[in-house]
Formats: sequence, C-alpha cells, structure tokens
Amino acid sequence: MKRDDQTGLGLGGNKTRKLEFLVGEALTQGCDTLITGGAAQSNHCRQTAAAAAACGLACHLVLGGEAPATAEGNFLLDRLFGAVIHWTGELRKGERIPEIAESLRSAGRKPYVVPYGGSNTTGATGFVEAVRELADQLSQLGESVTHIVFASSSGGTQAGLTVGKSLFGLSGELLGIGIDKGASGDVPFAEHVVRLANATAERLGVRNRFSASDVTIRNEYLGGGYGVVGELERRAIQMVAQTEGILLDPVYTGRAMGGLIDMIERGELSRTHSVLFWHTGGTPALFPYARDLIRS
Ligand SMILES: *Cc1c(COP(=O)(O)O)cnc(C)c1O
Repeated sequence: MKRDDQTGLGLGGNKTRKLEFLVGEALTQGCDTLITGGAAQSNHCRQTAAAAAACGLACHLVLGGEAPATAEGNFLLDRLFGAVIHWTGELRKGERIPEIAESLRSAGRKPYVVPYGGSNTTGATGFVEAVRELADQLSQLGESVTHIVFASSSGGTQAGLTVGKSLFGLSGELLGIGIDKGASGDVPFAEHVVRLANATAERLGVRNRFSASDVTIRNEYLGGGYGVVGELERRAIQMVAQTEGILLDPVYTGRAMGGLIDMIERGELSRTHSVLFWHTGGTPALFPYARDLIRS
C-alpha cells in the first residue's frame, strides 16, 4: 500500500501532491489568496486550506450545500485552517468560483484559482513526480507490481500516474476505480483523463502521448452514487481496519478497496499478481459518516 493518507499536511491525502505544484505556481505569480471549491466534506478543499495557511496565503472555499449546525470532519478542519467559506447549495463543483474571484480582484486581492480537485496539468505533475518516488522505492526494495489500484474522480491522479508510468518505466497496469459518474461533465471520464495526460506530457516537454488503451477506469462500483456509503464500502473499511489497523475513507478509498476485494473474490486478481493499493487519503470524512459505517 502506498500511503498518501500520510502525506503530512493537515491530515494528509493525495491533493497535497498536486498542491505542491499549484501553490508553487500561485507564489510565482505573486498571488495572495487561494480559491477553490468542492463538496462540504471535500478533502481537496481541506488540503488547500492547510496549504494556504502553511504558505501565508488567504483561502476562500466555495462549498456545495448549506452551512451545517456543527462543523465536522473536513469542514471542521477548513474552519480551523481559517478558510473563508461560501455556501452554494446545489452547486458542489465550484461553479461560482469565477464571480467570487472577480469580487476578490475588485477588493484588491490577487486570487489564484485552484481547479476542481486540483486536476489540471500543474496539479497532475505532482503525480508524475509521485511515480518517480514509487519507482525508486520499488527498486530499493527489489519489488515489482503487476497492478496499481486507486480511486479516480477528478482525473489528475490517474493522468499524472499515466504520464509517470511511461516516463519512469513503471511496470504494472493502472486500475482506476471510478468514484463519481459525472466527474468530468459532458466528456466521458476516460477521455478526460487521456486529454489531461497528453496536456501534462506536453507541458513537461516530453514526447510521450496516450490513448484510450492507456486509461482503465472501472465504473461498476459506483453504487448509490458519489458520497453514498453502501455495503461494499462499509465491508472494505471494516476489513482493512480490523486486519491491518489501517483506516480508509467512506467516499474514495473505501470504494476503491471494495472494488479490489471484489476483483480478488471473483478471481480476476490472485496470488500470481502483485497488487499495490494507492491509499489516496480522506480519513477525516470517517467521522461525519459514523452512522453509515457501523451497523449495530
Ligand atoms: C480527490 C480524491 C481522490 C481522487 O483523485 P482525483 O485526482 O480527483 O481523481 C481519491 N481519493 C481521495 C481521498 C480524494 O480526496
């Protein structure tokens, strides 16, 4: 297991790898405020708020839903990191960011817009670098993998992994587990990942290019939809907690691990394979999901 739940900033997660490059760009451009958006329990928003605090920037978060009566999970942490919150009801993908950025500019601020999930070429570069790190670790251990399983939602993680795999000669098939059916709007999600991988390669000045055959996304584990915990997630979270002492999260890694367990139980993956599970974080969301995780 690759433990990106332990990336070290504000309770960890995969967005920290993207933010390393996104915040670098914001600072290079002389910006003084980060602005991004997502769901009320967004891990991406929480890590953005933490990154802003660590770098002396202000942070505005555009969150779907209404202000809850008590701050819990990621939203509690957003508040502790000092983020300014804008609630936008039905809109949970930062649709109102442009107008809020504009009003910040009129007030004399210099906002830097972090895209949804941190998933543009700058953010995906963090996951190209992550593959270099993994390739080094595997070679030090004298290990190799046949499959890399991870939760895939806004696509930056998978795009970066795809570019990194070809650049650093990483063996192993990338198996993205789809988390959110509508994650990429009108474009089919796999196509969105292919485009982002190609744009990231272009930005890095490398010649490698990708097509649909480089991007596998398993969409059979979407269950009740984004953020809905079912038996698949509940069982995976309890199994890994009780056999490894490791916590997964209710929205992403619980679903991805549920998919991996299903592939093993159906015999698609077996002891002849060597599988790496990329733990992308999200554990602060366990607490607001307490009622869905334990059935007494
Ligand atoms: C955002 C997130 C993902 C998905 O990463 P993308 O780059 O958006 O596809 C997976 N797991 C967790 C815990 C996340 O917060």
